[in-house]
Amino acid sequence: MAPISGPHFIIFPFMSQGHTIPLLYLGRLLRRRSIAVTIFTTAGNSPSIRAILQETDINLVELPFPKEIESVPPGVENTDKLPSMASFLPFAIATKNMQHDFEAAIQNLQPASCLISDTFLGWTQQSAEKFGIPRLVFSGMGIFSTTMCHILSRDRPHAGTVSPDSPFFIPDFPQLKLTRNDFDPPFGEIEPTGEWVDFMVVQILAMAKSHGLVVNSFYELESSYVDYWNQKMGPKAWCVGPLCSAKPPSIASVEKPLYMEWLDEKSAKGVPVLYVSFGTQAEVSEEQLHEIAKGLEKSQVSFLWVLRSKGVEYLQGVENRGLIVKEWVDQMEILQHKAVKGFLSHCGWNSVMESLSANVPILAFPMMAEQHLNARLVAEEIGVGFRIMPSNGSVRGFVAAK
Ligand code: UDP
Ligand code: UDP
Repeated sequence: MAPISGPHFIIFPFMSQGHTIPLLYLGRLLRRRSIAVTIFTTAGNSPSIRAILQETDINLVELPFPKEIESVPPGVENTDKLPSMASFLPFAIATKNMQHDFEAAIQNLQPASCLISDTFLGWTQQSAEKFGIPRLVFSGMGIFSTTMCHILSRDRPHAGTVSPDSPFFIPDFPQLKLTRNDFDPPFGEIEPTGEWVDFMVVQILAMAKSHGLVVNSFYELESSYVDYWNQKMGPKAWCVGPLCSAKPPSIASVEKPLYMEWLDEKSAKGVPVLYVSFGTQAEVSEEQLHEIAKGLEKSQVSFLWVLRSKGVEYLQGVENRGLIVKEWVDQMEILQHKAVKGFLSHCGWNSVMESLSANVPILAFPMMAEQHLNARLVAEEIGVGFRIMPSNGSVRGFVAAK
């Protein structure tokens, strides 16, 4: 790496696609402003990171990934390759074993002006303090969902609810009617205990000591929640998104993928296409996938479905109107294609930001994490989509094709 004269930012993303990709875009934005950038990752993750960065003068440092983690197969260094979400927590906890190597590597770098690291890498707060570097936390979430999770932890407005579907009232946001089922454990639990709680408490305490948050959102989208966070919660959040606007264009020399040609054909015939994807983490039951296929078939809409779930080899009725893709796609490029007129999405926060940026309305089908809150934001707060609801009266449950 060439000697650095100006500011130097260290970025340490968590090893999940949805947490890494936006921070790579942020790295590119910083670089554009002549800030030196060093990104920390592991050997297993660096090829996909290099492919996204497409830039030679962002410094990439590889640390060894911890070995022998319970329930994590050897060689798995990204949560999208975990055999099940049950291994997510052991994976996240084990990253702390990288602290020694991380600090040794920082010592060999030019002094850093700032560390941007993921909320799940709360241990990096200690490293930042040791080296006197301010740390900014990145969580991959929007500020509405972040604020709601923190309100539940701080004020426990859900404590008196009799059922997970009973609405509760948040005094500072009287227009909201949330239920415990809008939250994944541990946030929605009345008496949260267990390893997830212990883990989250450590990350939240580390965040409280940090210099602030960088959020992949923009002020106008969630302004009342940004103001609330900055006035009543903190540490201060800076909305620096949508980060997907800093995505590099696809490499022109690379052959056009078949799914893009398929989209070209559809737009030439004036056929609108629904893009369907549930992200890189959600585990959708086989029964639910078949029901979605049935619904798509009945709707008679043309669809491009990126199906990363394992185990589903054949979905009845899709071959006439739909294309199923199992490889990694360029989602942003798909959303920007003129044939794509809607996005059936699990509402992972990156997908929401990408869909908004591409001006594609969302059909919200949340699955896990903070996706139910994102779906509320999409359908109820900003009104850029509709919500698919299960018929059991809850926000969670099996959705049947009608
Ligand atoms: N603001 C904004 N984006 C943000 C946060 C705040 O546009 O991410 C606006 C908001 O209207 C706020 C004003 O900027 O009232 C000033 O924000 P703040 O005092 O938090 O920031 P400062 O400029 O003082 O650091
Ligand atoms: N993504 C992609 N190609 C794929 C699958 C996912 O480019 O085949 C990207 C997508 O554009 C988004 C990220 O991976 O930037 C997924 O993040 P999101 O928050 O939407 O969902 P998660 O996978 O974290 O649930």
